[in-house]
Amino acid sequence: AVFNFGSINIDHVYSVPHFVQPGETLSSSSYQSILGGKGANQSVALAKANNNVFHVGAIGSSDSGFIEQMKEAGVNCEFIREMSDVASGHAIIQVTPDAENNIILFGGANQCISDDHIASALATAKPNDWVLLQNETNAIDKIITEAHKRQLHIAFNPAPMTESVKQLPLDKLTLLVVNEVEAEQLTGENDVEAIKRSLKSNYPNTKVLLTLGKAGVWFFEADNEEFCAAFKVKAVDTTAAGDTFIGFFLAAYQANKSIAEALKYACAASALAVMKAGAAPSIPSVDEVIAFLQT
Ligand code: ADP
Repeated sequence: AVFNFGSINIDHVYSVPHFVQPGETLSSSSYQSILGGKGANQSVALAKANNNVFHVGAIGSSDSGFIEQMKEAGVNCEFIREMSDVASGHAIIQVTPDAENNIILFGGANQCISDDHIASALATAKPNDWVLLQNETNAIDKIITEAHKRQLHIAFNPAPMTESVKQLPLDKLTLLVVNEVEAEQLTGENDVEAIKRSLKSNYPNTKVLLTLGKAGVWFFEADNEEFCAAFKVKAVDTTAAGDTFIGFFLAAYQANKSIAEALKYACAASALAVMKAGAAPSIPSVDEVIAFLQT
């Protein structure tokens, strides 16, 4: 099983003729509220990849409908706490007719993961289970330390990247997943070969996935590296490409597929995700991924 300590965000998406100007009040022509957050997206991707996943996180109690959506996707939600005194994590997103967006993000309940919450979820984890983390919740340091003490595998996707990530005990990770921008910020290097050298020498016991958008993905560890090209598809919306990749890769890897097979499977799943609009709703099913690989 995977215990994903992750964010749940509600994306409030407003269509506007232009971004709101200082002092201006603007009417929106449409409004949607959509399940998002890297944490929730990765839990949904794992569940859709038929992997047993427990989402560990928190949400405002008036938004339990979003927990239902995660359950419907197959996510185990018994460790999601509903909080009556804190707002759900959310994003206020303005979208203009030329598809530009700007975003206000509020962490809310995602920043309220407590020590007893961490302990109660990890108490049920078994040897060989995984803990998965992104950088949209609090207590990352504590969760890595506690998971490591219990000898669980730990995967960390430091997104969005912040300076504080450099202070985390990253040597305890089994798997680090970064896109090119995150890798550049983490290492201070700006070409792929230099990034690989830096991560291999700083974290010799950690496996790394370096995703490069439509260029594909590198997997590497101290003495081995493999590349997988991305599938050539018409990208409509690349939101959740990385989240889909992580979910399908981890599912295949846990099912003892080879690295090459896991990479190809995850590239296929994320190619399908970029062909569809939206975050969680764009994540494909296993059947869709298998059908795509057979074409
Ligand atoms: P993130 O969404 O975290 O920024 P990337 O943009 O690196 O991550 O994308 C993750 C993976 O999704 C890539 O390694 C690739 O397999 C797939 N992918 C992303 N963009 C495209 C695209 N335009 N066409 C095909 N596959 C893509």
